[in-house]
Amino acid sequence: MLPVALESLIAALKTLCATFPDRRTGGNTVYEMADIGLAAFATFFMQSPSFLAHQTALARGRGTSNCQTLFAMDRVPTDNHIRSMLDPVPPAALLPMFDKTLGMLEVGGGLAAFQRLDGHVLIALDGTEYFCSQKLSCPNCSSRARANGKTEHFHAMVSAALVAPGHVRALPLEPEFIVPQDGAEKQDCEARATHRWLAAHGPKYARLKPIYLGDDLSSRQATCEAVQAFGSHFLFTAKPSSHKTLYSWLDGAEVPAMENRIKQGARFVTHRYRWLEGLPLRDGKDALLVNWLEIEIADHAGKVTYRNSFVTDLAVSKNNVAELAACGRARWKIENESFNTLKTKGYNLEHNFGHGQQHLSAVLATMNLIAFAMHTVADLVDAAWAAARAAAGARRRFFEDLRAITTYLVFPTWAALLKTLGYGALPPAIPDG
Ligand SMILES: [Zn+2]
Repeated sequence: MLPVALESLIAALKTLCATFPDRRTGGNTVYEMADIGLAAFATFFMQSPSFLAHQTALARGRGTSNCQTLFAMDRVPTDNHIRSMLDPVPPAALLPMFDKTLGMLEVGGGLAAFQRLDGHVLIALDGTEYFCSQKLSCPNCSSRARANGKTEHFHAMVSAALVAPGHVRALPLEPEFIVPQDGAEKQDCEARATHRWLAAHGPKYARLKPIYLGDDLSSRQATCEAVQAFGSHFLFTAKPSSHKTLYSWLDGAEVPAMENRIKQGARFVTHRYRWLEGLPLRDGKDALLVNWLEIEIADHAGKVTYRNSFVTDLAVSKNNVAELAACGRARWKIENESFNTLKTKGYNLEHNFGHGQQHLSAVLATMNLIAFAMHTVADLVDAAWAAARAAAGARRRFFEDLRAITTYLVFPTWAALLKTLGYGALPPAIPDG
C-alpha cells in the first residue's frame, strides 16, 4: 500500500498539464496551463460540478483552498477560461497519465488481482458514445441522419480497460477517439479506431501478456491478426450470424462438452460448456484457424437464461474452458463499471464546460477517464483512501462526504482529509486568513 499514491499522481498530472500548448500571447497569462488542466480534472475527480466555485469562496475567507492544498494549483480559473484554454489542447497530450496510473497500480502491488489464466491480464476494448446532440456540434463531431430528417451529432471512442472476472474494479487505459480523419473518404468507425489503438498501444502492453476482449465486431480476421502481430492474444465474442463458415464446421462435428452445477442462493444453476479447436474464422484458404467455446446457463427449472460464444487463439480444454468463458464475459464490466460509472455516477461530462469547437469534448472525456483510473488505483493501493471508502459504505456516500467536507474545510494534505473521513480524526486547524 502506498500512502502517497494520490499526491504523486496529481504531481505527475500537473507536470503534464504544464506542457499543454498555450496559444495566449502578451500579458494575459495570469493562470498557468497547469492550473487550467488541474481545475478541470479536480471537478471530475471530486465528482462535483460546483467544486471550483466552493473553493473560490473558501479561498476568499481563508486565503487558501483545497485547490491549492490537494490539487497543487496556484490559482483557480473560471469555467469559461478553462473551456477556452482547453479547447485547442489535443487529447493525446494527456495520454501519458495512463502509464502513470498503471505504473502506480503495479508498484503498489495491485496488478496481481487483475491477472487471470496463468499470468495474463484482460484488456477489454469497447466502442462507447459519450456525447450526442441535435443542437450542439463541433468540427470533430461524427454525424448521422435521424428518421425525423434532423442530423444528430455525436462523439464516440474505443475505450480500453483492465478488467477481471470476480474483481469489482476496472482500470481505464488510453482511449482512441472516433473522429473524422484527415484525408479519409469514409466516416471513421469503431473498427478503424480499434486498429489505431492496437497499433499505438499494443506493443507497449505486450509485456503484460494481455488477452484482448472485444465484441462480435472484433472477431474479424484483421483484428485477430492485429492482436497477434505483437504476440498478444484475443478472446472475442463470435455470434453464429456473423461467423457462418465457423459454425458450419461445428455442425456434425463431435464437440466436447461439460457442465457444472453451481449453487446460487437456495437453488442450483447449470453452466454448460462446449468447445472445439482449429476452426476457420472465415471462408477461404487464408482463413485464420481459431479455437471456439460456448457457455450456456440454465436456471433451476432448466430454462436457458444466458448464452454466449467466443473465439480465441488460446488452447481450450475442459481444464480451462470455464475460466476462459468467465474472462470473455468480463467484457461487460467495461460497460457496467467504466462507462455506466462515467455516465451515471457523477462523472457527467460537459456540465460546466460546454462542448467547444476543437478538442474540448475529447479532452474532458480523457480527464474523466484519468479521474476514474486514479480512483481505481487509490481504491487498490492507497490504504488511507481505501479506509475512507470503507468507512462511508456505498461509493455514492463516499463522494457525498468528500464533497461536503471540502466545501467547508481546507485540508493541508490528502492524508489529513482521508484520516478524517476514514478514522473520524479531527480535521486539522487551518488558521483563518
Ligand atoms: Zn463535437
